[in-house]
Amino acid sequence: MTERNYTTVNPCVMCQPMGSVMAFKGIENSMVLMHGSQGCSTYMRLHLAHHFREPVDIASTSLSEKGAVYGGSENLKKGLKNVMARYHPKVIGVTTTCLAETIGDDVGRILKEFREEEKDAEDVHIISVSTPSYEESHSTGYIKAVEAIVRYFTESGIGKDIFNNKLNVVLGENIAPEDIRELKRILASNIGPRSFIFMPDTSETFDAPMTGKAEKIFPGGTPQSEIADMKNCAASIGLGITSDNRALDYLEAKYNVPAKRVPMPIGLEYSDRFMSALSEIAGSEIPETYKKERGRLIDAMVDVHKYLYGTRVAIYGDPEMVLGLLSLSLENGMYPVLVAPSCKTSAFKECALERIDRMNLDCDVKILEGLDFDAFNDAVKEANPEMLIGNSNGKYISQQIGVPLIRVGFPIHDRVGAQRILMMGYRGAMSMVDRITNTILEAKDIELEKKWLQNKESNLPGSCCDRTPAHAHLH
Ligand code: SF4
Repeated sequence: MTERNYTTVNPCVMCQPMGSVMAFKGIENSMVLMHGSQGCSTYMRLHLAHHFREPVDIASTSLSEKGAVYGGSENLKKGLKNVMARYHPKVIGVTTTCLAETIGDDVGRILKEFREEEKDAEDVHIISVSTPSYEESHSTGYIKAVEAIVRYFTESGIGKDIFNNKLNVVLGENIAPEDIRELKRILASNIGPRSFIFMPDTSETFDAPMTGKAEKIFPGGTPQSEIADMKNCAASIGLGITSDNRALDYLEAKYNVPAKRVPMPIGLEYSDRFMSALSEIAGSEIPETYKKERGRLIDAMVDVHKYLYGTRVAIYGDPEMVLGLLSLSLENGMYPVLVAPSCKTSAFKECALERIDRMNLDCDVKILEGLDFDAFNDAVKEANPEMLIGNSNGKYISQQIGVPLIRVGFPIHDRVGAQRILMMGYRGAMSMVDRITNTILEAKDIELEKKWLQNKESNLPGSCCDRTPAHAHLH
């Protein structure tokens, strides 16, 4: 494996503002203004549009040499005015890029000046997040932006300080719109449709229905009034356990909202933990529908065990998803020979080892955090998996070593439907189990077809091999 620590070649992570954009896109009527050079927003728009197959507008303050030397105050103020005039958003997320951070622009001061100068800006919530991309990753940018949004609205004076007896549900990592819809379905039927605040909610904004109307900002997202009301909730549940969920910590410390953290509900065990947490919070039984879904999942797992057992798999991508898929692969008898979360987090290793140690595995599991794709490719070759599970950036290594890749997570550039991939809950686990099994069966078919063709060629007239009909080899 490549031994080096002096450079990164093809990082597995994207930069912090990307995560920040994902969080802001889950807030109702919001627009992002990226403070820095123009290329940053272009790169992010492209990535997001390819993945979600939606137009994703991100404004940029387009700092040039002048801004880099004299500061970006003028550009930022002009940018805010343009965004307000063209998009009429209720929320503007100002997220910094490497350039703005490197020149040390005091964004807080510039925004204060802007508010004093522009009376039209009174009705617009401008929230800034510092996202220097020469450190950490898009995952950190997401967590930071969620925290900044929750802090801003809970301190904004919107609404009243009256106990609402609701549950906050705060994501620790960006997930597919389909998964959000599934989680909201589970929450609605377990604790009631109006008994939770889901934050951030990209189920509509990143997967908008075609209405024939050109929307500058897609409808949907968590309403500002609900975010402001998060401080009045009875409890919070954080989805994700490998990193600190700063918004949850903040609500707990400042407003005494007790928080529970559970893994992303991927696979049987982690979905069970989510369902139990909900039932505990609601003080009610798990509804019959979910007991049946659980039963169907177990039935599916029994059906496919003979195909999945012992399949060597390499799992990579964002840490919470990787942990969930590790759990799913273990409970299905697979051998997760390589587990590579895209960035280093405070608790990934501990959580992964806790899950692995409860199994009596016949293989070694290599956990490598924060690799770049160059080192990841070497690690894959060494681990010799029969299948990869992760985003589409792994396709080159999968083609090189000739093993299938199951595309999940972000980004998926080379296939459609990424926004509709379901992984969460019992139904998500069933869908994953089916996908993995069918991929194995397909690979076996291809292998068989190759052999069949080889046999056919060797049986052509003139060949010295026996003349058994080729199709006989299929049985
Ligand atoms: S790493 Fe920095 S310069 Fe590159 S796109 Fe991200 S914010 Fe922009």
